Amino acid sequence: MIKHVGVLGAGQMGGGIAHVFAQAGYEVVLFDIAPAQLEKSLKGIEKNLGRQAEKGAVDAAAIPGILGRIRSTQQMEDLSGCDIAIEAVTEREELKLDIFRKLDGIVKEGAILASNTSSIPITRIAAVTKRPEKVIGMHFMNPVPVMKLVEVIRGLSTSDETFRATAGLVEKLGKEMAVSADYPGFIVNRILIPMINEAAFALFEGVASAEDIDKGMKLGTNQPMGPLTLADFIGLDTCLAIMEVLYGGFKDPKYRPCPLLVKMVEAGRLGRKTGHGFYRYE
Ligand code: NAD
Repeated sequence: MIKHVGVLGAGQMGGGIAHVFAQAGYEVVLFDIAPAQLEKSLKGIEKNLGRQAEKGAVDAAAIPGILGRIRSTQQMEDLSGCDIAIEAVTEREELKLDIFRKLDGIVKEGAILASNTSSIPITRIAAVTKRPEKVIGMHFMNPVPVMKLVEVIRGLSTSDETFRATAGLVEKLGKEMAVSADYPGFIVNRILIPMINEAAFALFEGVASAEDIDKGMKLGTNQPMGPLTLADFIGLDTCLAIMEVLYGGFKDPKYRPCPLLVKMVEAGRLGRKTGHGFYRYE
């Protein structure tokens, strides 16, 4: 029975993960090495809960209780009693492997170790622990409190028991699960990012303007926004990094990153976060 949840990394994703678990009644320990991140994350959770209350999605009277269920810490040892630890630290393989080695020695026997990684193989992460059958991918979407989907990734050694417990958690959070085997990009990024890359190729080859590419996809395929607008939201550096993971992982030229995308990242045109991507932002 899972009651205590550890979250590693208090960034955009870790904060959102802590938020939804506390909201669903779990006791959460949120760990980060950076005190400023912990503080920022807790403030962000409070603000987002306030926003949800304004929309009627959360009872305002429940907010102090939800916040009271999140404890922050700079000591990984404080995660020792957790029934599941969900890692959402910076996307760097060496860092994640190091964290899982340590975590494996700290968290009680039998607990599940999950990763929110977007691109690092779960099987590779599991292999540095002594409990590979307990390691699984829980890939939340951004922003976590809003997005319905959690991709659940089974590593080569993930047990049925671990999978069932994780599936149960997704349900308790009121979210939906899509199950993926452990191959580059899982489901969503494997399909979404090549679509964005292809949109960049269409622009690069002069097929159409950015506006018409987006209009075509938005109105012609009923997507809420066009692929180039979406790329600006995600960040062009992130899109390129994922294309490189697909290209390197499958060794298939169909995942070749568009030269225009590469050039834009080199120029620092990363999308909304730098004020300039496929479009300009004030
Ligand atoms: P972020 O940069 O917002 O947060 C990362 C956090 O990790 C920071 O607070 C940092 O202080 C912390 N950290 C770094 N080293 C640490 C250590 N040794 N111990 C503890 N904490 C440490 O990043 P993010 O966007 O929240 O991404 C986190 C993970 O989630 C990545 O694996 C990313 O691929 C994945 N992810 C991101 C998105 C997204 O849209 N941002 C979506 C799905 C999955």
